[in-house]
Amino acid sequence: MSERLLIIGWDGADWEILDDLMHFGCLPNIESMLQGGARGTLLSTIPDHSWAAWSTFLTGLNPGGHGVFDFVERDPVEPQRRIPVSSGSIKAETFFERLSRAGHEIRAANVPVTYPPFQIRGRMISGITIPHGQTFVYPRDFGPELERRAPFPTNGMEWTQFRDHPQDLIDEARSFIERRTASFEVLLEGNWKVATCVYIASDRLQHAFGAYLLPTHPDHARLRDTPLAASIRDVYRLLDHQIERLREAAGPETTAVLISDHGFGPVNRASNLNQVLCKLGMATPTRTGGATTSLRRSALWRTLGTRSIGYAIKRRARAPATLDWSKTMAYRSSHGGGVSINLKGREVKGIVDARDYERVRQEVREALLGFKDAGGDSPVAEVLLREELYSGDHIDLAPDLLVRPTSLWTLTYTDAAASVTDWPTGDHRRTGVVLAAGGRTMPGELGQRDLADMSATALAFCGVPASAQNGSAIEEIAGRSDGNGRVPSTREQRRQTQALTQQDENQIADHLRNLGYIE
Ligand SMILES: [Zn+2]
Repeated sequence: MSERLLIIGWDGADWEILDDLMHFGCLPNIESMLQGGARGTLLSTIPDHSWAAWSTFLTGLNPGGHGVFDFVERDPVEPQRRIPVSSGSIKAETFFERLSRAGHEIRAANVPVTYPPFQIRGRMISGITIPHGQTFVYPRDFGPELERRAPFPTNGMEWTQFRDHPQDLIDEARSFIERRTASFEVLLEGNWKVATCVYIASDRLQHAFGAYLLPTHPDHARLRDTPLAASIRDVYRLLDHQIERLREAAGPETTAVLISDHGFGPVNRASNLNQVLCKLGMATPTRTGGATTSLRRSALWRTLGTRSIGYAIKRRARAPATLDWSKTMAYRSSHGGGVSINLKGREVKGIVDARDYERVRQEVREALLGFKDAGGDSPVAEVLLREELYSGDHIDLAPDLLVRPTSLWTLTYTDAAASVTDWPTGDHRRTGVVLAAGGRTMPGELGQRDLADMSATALAFCGVPASAQNGSAIEEIAGRSDGNGRVPSTREQRRQTQALTQQDENQIADHLRNLGYIE
């Protein structure tokens, strides 16, 4: 069997969590990878949500290069509509395609933002989110075989729905992890050079159970010895066992890498940036929004708020917050801290003149930085301008401003500018994990690397030059380059599969809503 590169993704893995789980002895396979292997941190994108991050993993480009900044994007035909981001939204070549073009056989499974599946040399199982009844594998005729031998469970683990029955989320995670590996094992048959298999359960559990998993969460000491905490740790024990199964399927000469798309930190406060902007006088709620506000002020609502029931319950009782665009200068434009100016000509109901854009943007930045909640705390740690962060052809799709939250705060679809939360108790942070073992791995400390480096690393592993990428190859994983790799220079556009149907869009939107990613 030839040399292979196996990339295992644990969505949202974080050393704070993994190190603690190793103390409990839950991760024997990770421990064995670390003995004689390489360990480092992997820096995610801004925003550090999975859609932007996995698109960077796939393309080796920052979001300005691939154009994915959110879970939804403007419908090119009807700009007042937002439609779910899909694989066709990634506006750059993925390393799966680049390696395919250079003649290498690929396997890809459950990588977010790869639905609809696209043409590669090899086999693909799409990742979240997948509408019911649609083909989610490439090539198409692999579908019936997979269905017969190891049916792949799509989507799942909509953690916001499990506030009142957390054990069910744990059970679902366990079932999904095992069934996913069974599908991956079928996928990994045959001849291939580079494979990527992703597990999402880590992210879903950490949103819901961050306080149980993160020692720096203020409630951790009280929760870590509970039966629920033990049962959560057992899911990671199971997840760790899958590493062994996949490495076995890949063969003894394989270079195995475990990565996250972003890390995970503790949260106990939540802030809705639209509510912050309304309080700052830079956005105005509609009358529907006003009704929501009065509900929020009711005695019942205050009780819910002070008892910190968590935003999942509040969401059920809430009308969608909408803004009066004729009185709104800036609005929350993407998950993960994006804020945009309501610019004339660009936004459907824009009111800010192009000549005032820079001044207004600076005012919004200053105002956000100055915002304090009733207790004098600020959810806003930092406000960055998009040109400070991005390079590439698609900066025009980026939010105008990127807000970075203060630690212990999550910027999300809660109902208030500032509230307490015990569900979720974890949220994304930029610093994630990378570790490697076997094959070409050079043991030792990798230091801090960038998620964009993974694409260049996979290309270098196969001797394919990583031209026009933001990342650079991690030699401790890919081996030293001999510089002889050649690829045809013709640029092949990803085959655009048929557009999503309205029904598919609605199903995808429902899943994203139940994950707390869109309103
Ligand atoms: Zn993620």
